[in-house]
Amino acid sequence: MTCFATIGLGLIGASCCAGLRARTDWQIRGFARSEATRQEALARGLVDASFDSIEATIADADIILIAVPMGQFAAVFDVVARARKSHAVVTDAGSTKGSVIRDIEVSLERVPAWFVPGHPIAGSERSGVEAANPDLYVNHQVILTPAATTDIAAVETVTRLWQCLGASVSHMDATRHDEVLALTSHLPHVLAFNLVHALSDDDEHLDIFRYAAGGFRDFTRIAASDPTMWRDISLANRHALLHGLDRYTERLAEMRDAIASGDAEWLMRSFERARTARQLFSSLSEQGVRPVAEIHPSVFQVTEAKTGLCGEIRVPGDKSISHRSIMLGALAA
Ligand code: NAD
Repeated sequence: MTCFATIGLGLIGASCCAGLRARTDWQIRGFARSEATRQEALARGLVDASFDSIEATIADADIILIAVPMGQFAAVFDVVARARKSHAVVTDAGSTKGSVIRDIEVSLERVPAWFVPGHPIAGSERSGVEAANPDLYVNHQVILTPAATTDIAAVETVTRLWQCLGASVSHMDATRHDEVLALTSHLPHVLAFNLVHALSDDDEHLDIFRYAAGGFRDFTRIAASDPTMWRDISLANRHALLHGLDRYTERLAEMRDAIASGDAEWLMRSFERARTARQLFSSLSEQGVRPVAEIHPSVFQVTEAKTGLCGEIRVPGDKSISHRSIMLGALAA
């Protein structure tokens, strides 16, 4: 029987346990630092056993998930690397991937074959074992960012884990992942935290919040997220996040100028453009449009090619790659 172990029994780790409990007969184990969390996980039936040491938790594990705040990853990874059984596959759920790879390179020089960096694009502003949700990952995406050294069989094991939880899996380069997530997740969180902080500095803030309507609530919901987690993410992905903040600051300054000078046309163009983009985004996600990589993984292993290679390759829907593909096709014809 497969033995699954999670290090960290917060929203992400405990939801994996809950989902696997509902869908498999796997043996499920969890590590938490606090006795209260260990007892709560047992009482909720999320784990078969909970431990106060990482070594004991992973002693018999076939698949190990590291689901702790980014600032704790390096210390946890070092223990896991030393104590895992030789066949165990290890993955993580961290929101930034470049920092995970850098942390590993400090201790092991290169990403080991048995480690598959991952990031479930699912979650909420809730945290802790109480927030465990067996369906958290259903119809959500998980991005894996395997390194060149990652074993393809390990990637397949982790892909099956997330698919079993109802997620669809795609692959991305770690740097690209961090650039994209900086804009779509980290920047909006930083803006929401900053707006609520700025308004709460105001002497009149109770009045302001009392009259706040749906727009304010929608925009700032994510400012209720865990501060430790977001401090760690902001620092772990600081380069890409700073780039996004600089771009955003420029746009905000342009908008400020347009408002100050009464430039109704500029404002109209900007709001219309944003509304159209938002509608497009909504309709794409309603239609369940997913990245091409999900169906066509970007990691291939060629073992033998004595008689040449044949097969079909579909390039991603990207203008420059498509142009090159057509040019190469024309040259080869
Ligand atoms: P959480 O706060 O709900 O849980 C984190 C758990 O890790 C807590 O139980 C905490 O006690 C434990 N922990 C902290 N330091 C530890 C250590 N040194 N050793 C062992 N356990 C430790 O957070 P979460 O939402 O479950 O996030 C976990 C990871 O998943 C983070 O890296 C986060 O970036 C990532 N993630 C979060 C979301 C989200 O929306 N919450 C989404 C995707 C990925």
